[in-house]
Amino acid sequence: MDTGSASNHRLHFSRKALVAIGVLVAVIAVVVALAISRSPQVPRAGAPAGGVSEVQRLMPPTPPFTKTIDAYQKYQGGTTCSPTDKPGAVDIKNLVVATYHNAWWGIHRACTSSVNEHKEGRAIDVAFNAADPVQRTRANDFLYWLLKPDQYGNRNAMARRIGVMYLIWNHKMWRSYNPSAGWLPYSGSNPHTDHVHISLSWDGALRKTTWWTQRTGAATPMPSPPAGVSRERAPTDITDSPR
Ligand SMILES: [Zn+2]
Repeated sequence: MDTGSASNHRLHFSRKALVAIGVLVAVIAVVVALAISRSPQVPRAGAPAGGVSEVQRLMPPTPPFTKTIDAYQKYQGGTTCSPTDKPGAVDIKNLVVATYHNAWWGIHRACTSSVNEHKEGRAIDVAFNAADPVQRTRANDFLYWLLKPDQYGNRNAMARRIGVMYLIWNHKMWRSYNPSAGWLPYSGSNPHTDHVHISLSWDGALRKTTWWTQRTGAATPMPSPPAGVSRERAPTDITDSPR
C-alpha cells in the first residue's frame, strides 16, 4: 500500500502543479495584453499608396504650426536679373541638404538673355538621381512631405507654408497654380532625372510665408548642411521651363 499511497501523492501533486501553471499562463496573458493595448499606435493617417508607411520615410523635421495656412501661390515667373541667393531659398536648400546629404545644389544663376527664377535666386536645384533606387526614394520622400496634408487637413501643407510655386522631378511637374491636377507629365528639354527643381514665390523667397512667420512654440533652427558632404554646383546646364 505504500506504493499506492506514493502514486496518489504524486498524482495529487501533479494536479496542483497543473493548476499553478494554468494560473501563471493566464496572468502572463493578461500582462501581455495590457502591454500591447498601451503601446503607441503606428500612425495610419500617412499610409500612402504604394505600401510605404510614413514612418519608413525620411523627411525633414516639421515645426509645429497653427491651422492658419497660406493660399496656393500664383504663377510668378522670373522677369528680372537679380542673381543672388534669396534667404528663403537658402533656408530650404539647407533643410534639404541637411536631411538628405545631397551631392550638390544650386540656386542663383548668372543672368543671360533668358529669365527664370534661378536668375532671381529663388529657385533651388538639389541633386537626386532618379536612376538610383535609394536617391529616387529620398526624392519621393521629400516631395511626399511637401505635398501631404497636415494634421488639420490642409492639403499640400508644407509646399504652401514654404511658398512653393512649382516642382519638377523625373519627367513630372507639380504646380501650385493648378494643385488639383497633381503631378503632370513634364516635357521640358531637361527631364530632371538628376535633380529636383523647386521654384519659390517671391513671398517664399523673402521668408514671408507661414513656414517662417507662423511657427508656434520655440523656433526650430534651420539645420545646416553637413560639412564636407555637399558642394555647390552652378546649374548652368539646366533649362527649367515652368509651362
Ligand atoms: Zn532648376
